[in-house]
Amino acid sequence: MKDVVIIGSGISGMACAVECARRGVHVCLVSPFPSERSQSVMAAGGINAVLPEHEPGDSVEKHIEDTLKGGCNLGGNVAVTNLCESAEEIIQYLEKIGTVFSTDDSKNLVRRAFGGQSYKRTYYCGASTGKQIVSALVMEVRRYEAAGVIQRRLWSCFHSALIKDGVCYGVVLFDEAKGQLDAVYADAIVIATGGQNGLFGKTTGSTQCDGYTAGKLFMQGVELKNLEFIQYHPTTMETSQKKMLISEAVRGEGGRLFYIEDGKRIYFMEEKYGPRGNLQTRDVVAREIDKIGKQVFLDISFLAPKEIEQKLPEVKELCKKYGDIDITKEPIPVVPSVHFFMGGFAVHLNHETNIRNLFAVGECASMYHGANRLGGNSLLAALYSGKRAAEEIIERTVVKKQPDFTKELEKENRILKEMMTGKSQFPVMYIREMLADTMQKYLGIVRDETSLEKGIEDVEYYLSIANRIQYDSSVMAYMNYSLEGILTLARATLTCAKQRKESRGAHYRRDYSDKDAQFEYATIISYANGEYKVRLDEERSYES
Ligand SMILES: Cc1cc2nc3c(=O)[nH]c(=O)nc-3n(C[C@H](O)[C@H](O)[C@H](O)COP(=O)(O)OP(=O)(O)OC[C@H]3O[C@@H](n4cnc5c(N)ncnc54)[C@H](O)[C@@H]3O)c2cc1C
Repeated sequence: MKDVVIIGSGISGMACAVECARRGVHVCLVSPFPSERSQSVMAAGGINAVLPEHEPGDSVEKHIEDTLKGGCNLGGNVAVTNLCESAEEIIQYLEKIGTVFSTDDSKNLVRRAFGGQSYKRTYYCGASTGKQIVSALVMEVRRYEAAGVIQRRLWSCFHSALIKDGVCYGVVLFDEAKGQLDAVYADAIVIATGGQNGLFGKTTGSTQCDGYTAGKLFMQGVELKNLEFIQYHPTTMETSQKKMLISEAVRGEGGRLFYIEDGKRIYFMEEKYGPRGNLQTRDVVAREIDKIGKQVFLDISFLAPKEIEQKLPEVKELCKKYGDIDITKEPIPVVPSVHFFMGGFAVHLNHETNIRNLFAVGECASMYHGANRLGGNSLLAALYSGKRAAEEIIERTVVKKQPDFTKELEKENRILKEMMTGKSQFPVMYIREMLADTMQKYLGIVRDETSLEKGIEDVEYYLSIANRIQYDSSVMAYMNYSLEGILTLARATLTCAKQRKESRGAHYRRDYSDKDAQFEYATIISYANGEYKVRLDEERSYES
């Protein structure tokens, strides 16, 4: 029987696992925590699709057009076409496995408007679309687990990959119960570890998405792409622990942004962009808020309380719970925050990386969103990419011969033991907090050459002290062990941003404020012997 190891059990990892299992491939599904705690459960607003009963004028072609335009032509025509064409089948599949979408009184699925889209095509489950999809997929995973085709391996973390001569043979996992590293061999390895929120500290996302896996694999020779494109969501609410997302659904339902000047409300987005001003893409809205430099509010209180209760119940609850705000009566104070990563592993259309048999899916893979993602497209991409990688794995001929990695494993275990008992000079959390400050400060909504150089200088310093740190053996502390990988990824991200001397989508440079046609290619970065090599993918080598 063919086997696959999938690292990460959010929506993309589970979508891949279920498809592999359905077609008879044995799956080992690895994550430090259950799927119900993955970032995917936070997805609120919905998932995009053009279904047969679409808005008059809408079509799959328009969905493709909007996605490519939102991504500033870096999304890749074939990839985006495949994604958008798959959407109808994906919604049907989700319904079949038990996802309950919101409907009107006649039981027709309802849709809402999302930023950057010319028609309403975002389908949703109240304001808990992610939770609904995760629950449905968890039930599917359990079915195959009971049949012995999926083995879930919880409380385990990715440590490194077993790669020789450009081929991946398996992974090394850190097992919390044993406090040691284990090798797991497989015919294919799929990385589904989500975004790189850990680089930025407080974001809208999960702390589980720390970026370590991308950083470590990058150090092992895997190419990364478009790291400079980081989506700042324009509307989040500041709390002590994180930035709580105020879903784009609020603007989709008519929510209006304003600030106060001389006691008067200034609806700045409508003044500048007309009646659909509040629904500009996220990069545009975030930049406009950043420019204003004073408190901005989002108002939806003009809707009937019953309508708010029906369409935005979780937003209402969240604002009450974390900000003591009643959105049926008062506006929400909002700030932009790091939210989504368009960049990640460079993958081909089949989601394989530059290393044979090593795949990447979901948010950790860079493919469909180009320079800026449209809301509602990432759940679609997570589901589509998981299935697409599974299809490739199913078709692959198996080569069972494996090189012997025993020596490498012994060495890694020895290093791990030394680290866990060594003397601490710098607390890990302190460095991670400093890194987050550096990234927020120098790689914010607006960057320039000087800020990026300062960022690189800071990260170089953190890297120089990273090996003088002590760790202990709990999973969370082990995640801190990831420091070198995280810092290397941060350094790579700043390097990509520095070389893109133009402004495009979510990458806005004060010193190069216009788009430049010579940069209309993806950025690819690789690493060897401590050197970072960046190039523009002029041959479009990852678009096939
Ligand atoms: C607040 C919020 C709201 C959102 N709303 C929407 C929306 O309405 N529509 C939309 O399309 N998108 C939305 N998104 C984006 C979307 O939810 C994500 O892009 C998508 O769910 C990512 O799924 P994933 O499977 O790639 O990753 P995740 O769901 O992030 O899963 C990652 C998995 O990897 C595991 N993992 C991490 N590190 C390791 C390691 N070292 N070893 C082993 N396992 C590891 C984690 O434990 C987890 O199981 C939202 C995002 C946020 C934060």
